[in-house]
Amino acid sequence: MSDRYCVFGNPVAHSKSPAIHALFATQCRQDLTYDTVLAPLDGFAGAVQEFVAAGGRGANVTLPFKEEACALCDRLSDRAARAGAVNTLSFAGGAIAGDNTDGAGLVRDIEANLGFPLAGRRILLLGAGGAARGAVAPLLACGPQTLAIANRTGDKAARLAAQFADLAAVDAGNYADFAGRSFDVVINATSASLSGATLPLPDGAFAPGSLAYDMMYGRGETPFLAQARARGAGRCADGLGMLVEQAAEAFLVWRDVRPETAPVLAALRAQIAA
Ligand code: NDP
Repeated sequence: MSDRYCVFGNPVAHSKSPAIHALFATQCRQDLTYDTVLAPLDGFAGAVQEFVAAGGRGANVTLPFKEEACALCDRLSDRAARAGAVNTLSFAGGAIAGDNTDGAGLVRDIEANLGFPLAGRRILLLGAGGAARGAVAPLLACGPQTLAIANRTGDKAARLAAQFADLAAVDAGNYADFAGRSFDVVINATSASLSGATLPLPDGAFAPGSLAYDMMYGRGETPFLAQARARGAGRCADGLGMLVEQAAEAFLVWRDVRPETAPVLAALRAQIAA
């Protein structure tokens, strides 16, 4: 029987993870199935137990369960413990191991796929929610010159920065606090685009040749990337590559083989554009 994997979420029908993992499995000749599981908002733990009892080997976790998944694990990787959130579960020997591959996926997309090394760069991270929290340690591990976090609620950015004070000094505040400063990379980890809101980006935030990166993706240009381009960002990229790379990292955790992501990203991009 094929090894079983799934993604838990609510909602989850829109998830592209089954398509991505099916392509990885074919490419790497791995015998597995990967489905979506709609977990009740008050029944995530039960849904996981049911899946494990039915022989599930591993799972991804998406909104809104990443923090609950973290609490459910018997063991956490360092990066999951740092993020306080889990997107990758592995089930073996009656124990649940948790990992977080989102930040690694982000970094790999920027550095390997976009060819934009982060060492020595000035990075501005927008947002202080779960996605931002998962990105901080992996970004710091790249050795940037500075990492700054701007959030609508400045206090929340300050609290987030404080959690990583043992790794590096991270500047934090609200958007206006960064007026007059320029950055080589500006990463949107907010959900502002979901409501069509534009961000109060500080003037001059985009240095010449800078990269604007939106964790959001979809058909056409995202509102953040349109705003960034108008304000002089040199390059723009959406988060589809991050999605594929975090999936590849999860596949590596489960199957001990790293799939080629370029053909999968191209297939997904074509699907979205169609
Ligand atoms: P959270 O709900 O945890 O955090 C949302 C963040 O957005 C908060 O910092 C919030 O600010 C900010 N925000 C929301 N609305 C506005 C607004 N109108 N103006 C300014 N700031 C706003 O969400 P997540 O961190 O989980 O997700 C953030 C985004 O990242 C989502 O769009 C998600 O789809 C994307 N993502 C993409 C991934 C990928 O693989 N490409 C993986 C994971 C996430 P405040 O604190 O002030 O409320």
